[in-house]
Amino acid sequence: MTILESVTVNLGSRSYPIHIGQGLLAHIKEHLPFNPAGRTLFVLADYNIENTYAEMLAEGLKKAGAAQVHIRSVPPGEASKSWKQLESVLSWILDNKADRQSVLFAVGGGVTGDLGGFAAAIALRGIPFVQVPTTLLAQVDSSVGGKTGINTPQGKNMVGAFHQPAAVLCDLDTLETLPRRELLAGYAEIAKYGLINDPEFFIWLESQGTKVCALEPQVLAKAIETACRKKAEIVAQDETEKGVRALLNLGHTFGHALEAAAGYDGSLLHGEAVAIGMVLAFRLSVRLGLCPEADEARVEKHLAAMGLPVRPSFSDIDKIMAFMTHDKKVTDGKVVFILAHGIGKAVVSKNIDLKDAKQIIAESMKGK
Ligand code: ADP
Ligand code: ZN
Repeated sequence: MTILESVTVNLGSRSYPIHIGQGLLAHIKEHLPFNPAGRTLFVLADYNIENTYAEMLAEGLKKAGAAQVHIRSVPPGEASKSWKQLESVLSWILDNKADRQSVLFAVGGGVTGDLGGFAAAIALRGIPFVQVPTTLLAQVDSSVGGKTGINTPQGKNMVGAFHQPAAVLCDLDTLETLPRRELLAGYAEIAKYGLINDPEFFIWLESQGTKVCALEPQVLAKAIETACRKKAEIVAQDETEKGVRALLNLGHTFGHALEAAAGYDGSLLHGEAVAIGMVLAFRLSVRLGLCPEADEARVEKHLAAMGLPVRPSFSDIDKIMAFMTHDKKVTDGKVVFILAHGIGKAVVSKNIDLKDAKQIIAESMKGK
């Protein structure tokens, strides 16, 4: 059991630690900011990890003297971020007599984190929760920042709350079973932090990225720590996304539209869409005369070398554009994009013409 890195998310009285290490699940007691003894605890997971990591965590909590440990799983996938699953999770919490001492542990990827976090935010008007992210994406992204929520027929993450966890425990051992594509999708979000405002980190990734994806503990822990720290810094400045937090959306205006057009059927993962979206954002920046072409080429080369897609393969461009126009950030045909003056120099651009964006996508599809 070793903690390799830790990050504190500074949010005044709601500050919390992120611990990154090996064997954390089995020795859970030492890593919690509260004593689990005597409490009624809840462990939410999805079917894929119920029998492994959720069980391991529950065993650790029982050993630490918890009065009751209840485990529940939802089907894996975005569809579980629903009213129906929210209701079932809340009923499970209330039926098992949660009280003010209770804590919910959300084990898994972004889906269980978002659903579990939201249930914790509103059960009994809010009980504490602990994030135990087991995907690289969740470790570097959704577990920092306190956004929780579900999807509704009107769109993704339309109902939710900001509810900060009491702690985040990233156990690197859990990544051993994560499918390669899911791992790389998480890597795209790591690279994003270098591209936003840390050119040295991007240079480091250019030489160390292969080791990160080979799960070499020290290098992997360093990459996760840097990503979490950078996100934590941005979130601490702008917890509810009024300004600088928008930079975290680099690659996401394109990415969300590609993802939606592909239909969330597993053919294009979120991180894969972000990888393509970041390359498109750099291409658009070059086109608008903001960014040197060489920087765009480096971004594309590195992401492709890691095994990520860098061009859209979905060919219905009108459908992609329709999703981009439906984005909540559109006014008068102008969309908010995060562009870049170079690697590590991302900026918010409010006045981008959709025609330019469309042209960039079309060219990229044609292999230009
Ligand atoms: P994210 O939004 O973080 O990518 P999801 O909650 O959609 O996460 O999870 C992605 C997929 O990976 C799901 O099918 C989930 O069951 C699976 N999964 C999560 N963690 C692991 C793990 N450590 N090993 C194997 N599969 C995992
Ligand atoms: Zn993202």
